[in-house]
Amino acid sequence: MKLPNYNYHSHTYRCGHAAFVGDLEYINKYINNGFESIGISDHMPNTKYQLPDERSRMDIKHLKTYLKSIKRIKKQNKNINILIGFECEYSNILGKHLCMLKDKCDYLILGQHYIDDINPISNAEYPLIYAKTVCEALDTGLFDYIAHPDYFLKFRDTIKEEYKETYINNCKKCFKMICLKAKKLDIPIEINLNFINNIKIMKDNEYPYPHSLLFNIASKIGNKCVVGIDAHIPSVIDKYNDSFNKVLRDLPKLNIIYDYNPKNQRNKLLDKKYNIFKKNIKNFEHYFLKKIIKKIPYNSNNEEILKIFNKLKSNLLNSKNKTINRLLKEIDTINNSILDLKDKNNMINRKKEFIKITEKRYKEQNKLLNNMINKINKNKDKYNGQKLLKKLKEYYL
Ligand SMILES: [Zn+2]
Ligand SMILES: [Zn+2]
Repeated sequence: MKLPNYNYHSHTYRCGHAAFVGDLEYINKYINNGFESIGISDHMPNTKYQLPDERSRMDIKHLKTYLKSIKRIKKQNKNINILIGFECEYSNILGKHLCMLKDKCDYLILGQHYIDDINPISNAEYPLIYAKTVCEALDTGLFDYIAHPDYFLKFRDTIKEEYKETYINNCKKCFKMICLKAKKLDIPIEINLNFINNIKIMKDNEYPYPHSLLFNIASKIGNKCVVGIDAHIPSVIDKYNDSFNKVLRDLPKLNIIYDYNPKNQRNKLLDKKYNIFKKNIKNFEHYFLKKIIKKIPYNSNNEEILKIFNKLKSNLLNSKNKTINRLLKEIDTINNSILDLKDKNNMINRKKEFIKITEKRYKEQNKLLNNMINKINKNKDKYNGQKLLKKLKEYYL
């Protein structure tokens, strides 16, 4: 069977859960396997206000070297087209950050791995919330394709028997919403090959994803489909042919694009949407404070508001300490392991670096909370009682 000779879903060691190899090792594999156009799309970094997540993503301080490394390889390898991108989650609090990333690279893929504050485990309503978030994300014009729109199905075996029917119906509704939105905006959806090599089969005898529930709907709606290897280790690129055939065997007939480039084939409608989004989106600080202020009860007085902010400060301090303790423990475990010295050192250095980063990011978020506390203290004589809260709610909500 004919194979698409592109792949725009590929990670690097910087995300902390991919092989610790140089970027060039991936590129050489792509070249040796006859790919003509590829993109590196590592997991996006958190903002400077969030505690880092060294098991899932690079830190924002690694952004420059990531872009530089891929650009250098691109310059040195003219026989293959190389794009630079990111795989990103969406929420409005990240909007400004996502615009910054988008303007520095060739394309963004939406990989919605989680939704803030919502647990996907044993949650039959999760697919509906997921669909809403994905559709909202697509409407921003930020994203050029959707990675694994069926990602959350990997939690499906946690749904209790009595909710299974509701869950399946919600999944169908979810995929219909996503497919219709993607079709309207001419955004391709991805057939993700990440799980194919793990041969992890779930109770319904299918892979965690890609799943027939999504692709039966995509097939009917006629969505454009792209194939994504989602490489976290260069050797999977050698297995591309097998993985592709294996996955296609179980899926309905799909409208696969055989010639795809997210940069050149970007729809004008998306640019228009993106420009509007970029003009209107507020910064992280705004949405961060908005979320807090929204939850403060209307009858709270100034002292009660201050108490809420101070509580958040101590929670933040606790999560920082928890993260650092975990990292220290992990360093101990690695030290006592039988890994070879080079791997040990690489892993330990990364954990040590992230201890420093955690301190730094903690300070930034703490600063946001302190600024608010200072503002409230300054105004608490001027606006006594609930007037201050009213002013805050007026401004932020
Ligand atoms: Zn992903
Ligand atoms: Zn990925």
